[in-house]
Amino acid sequence: MNVVKFGGSSVANAEQISKIIGVVTSDTDRRIVVVSAPGKRFAGDIKVTDLLIALADTVLGGNDFEAALKAVVDRYTEIQRNLDLPAGVIEIITADLRGRIETRGPSKLQFMDAMKAAGEDCNARVIAEAFTKAGNPAKYMNPGAAGMLLSAEFGNAEVLEESFKNLSSLKDSKEIVIFPGFFGVTKGGDIATFPRGGSDITGAILAAAVNADVYENFTDVDSVCSMDPRVIDNPPAITCMTYREMRELSYAGFGVFHDEAIIPAVRAEIPICIKNTNNPSAPGTMVVPKREPEHGSVVGISSASGFCSIYIDKYMMNREVGFGRRLLQILEEEGISFEHTPSGIDNMSVLLASANISDKKETHVLNRIKTELKPDNISVEHGLALLMVVGEGMHYTPGMAAKATQAFREANINLEMINQGASEISMMFAVKESDRENAIQALGTAFFPKKTSSN
Ligand code: ASP
Repeated sequence: MNVVKFGGSSVANAEQISKIIGVVTSDTDRRIVVVSAPGKRFAGDIKVTDLLIALADTVLGGNDFEAALKAVVDRYTEIQRNLDLPAGVIEIITADLRGRIETRGPSKLQFMDAMKAAGEDCNARVIAEAFTKAGNPAKYMNPGAAGMLLSAEFGNAEVLEESFKNLSSLKDSKEIVIFPGFFGVTKGGDIATFPRGGSDITGAILAAAVNADVYENFTDVDSVCSMDPRVIDNPPAITCMTYREMRELSYAGFGVFHDEAIIPAVRAEIPICIKNTNNPSAPGTMVVPKREPEHGSVVGISSASGFCSIYIDKYMMNREVGFGRRLLQILEEEGISFEHTPSGIDNMSVLLASANISDKKETHVLNRIKTELKPDNISVEHGLALLMVVGEGMHYTPGMAAKATQAFREANINLEMINQGASEISMMFAVKESDRENAIQALGTAFFPKKTSSN
């Protein structure tokens, strides 16, 4: 049995919904379907979730909300008409939205979540109708009724453990289950949503709950690219990677999934397949618990800007027991998380996301380090980019770092920092932000040399 999730662009209009019916019914293993709210139909369009947020804001501002309500209902009406579904479904949707507005309580956060959830909820009702009309019995499943219990952290909810048991019975459904993504209910019965993009989380929870063979995540790309296609022309596709590889890649700006989204599927060791709704016969990218990598192979190179490093130098630092702990404790007390801490015999650097440290905080932290740790030198470097070279095949392979540093030397790029993860499946390089694109190109040429044909 497969759990299949379709993102907003895959369910944005009637044409896309007809495609997903074709995708689901082409494989009898596809039994549980998680759907997003209708996304953008074209560049510049507005996602239904954003229309709902605007509607909720209008209501909360005490303003006339009829136009904002109509903007939402119109999206579903367009789908209903083009799929030739009974008009009654639009009446249900309109009454449902008005009901959410009229019965709202005092909490703005709770009201906002109830409104945001309507995007997925209404779409699942429409899509279930569309499946049934096309001759494939399907049923809309309400997450609350199915036992998708979430913590009462509105807008940022987490799944409660008992949900997995509650949801496991979905596998016995005779009909195809159409399950709205993005939300569940609290123990108090209130609707709560995951963070934005959270339909991926719903899919991963259901895949784990029914112990699916595969969690198929349909989006609008054929596969995940090994490098940023905005920087490298036609980078090779990734056919298979492990969860660890994906995590290392997504950490430096790789837009596969929000990696926390798939934790439930990872814990249950369910393979994930990323596929394209618009080209479903393309094999896609598999994300698996384990794989046998080619020796010395790299799966992908990711990069992100917006980092800074604090460099501290103190003679005989290596003899000073607790130096590193005290340094990190200062960061902890200031509520700052760090990314890497490469160190030498008498020096230590801490790499941070610049967004985590304001100018004022930086001055305060530097002063604390100076007074509490008495370093010989301390300096801060801003404007750094990180590059991650990732691959299980790098494990125990000599010469991987040399290959990268040689590539940087040839491209005349100054390396600010190197760090090899203890797992040996990733190498991190920090360069100036202005060198980032050249650095990706240099590493791309080194690790993915274009295959030249012999004749
Ligand atoms: N519709 C929600 C959003 O736009 C959730 C999702 O699509 O995954 O964030």
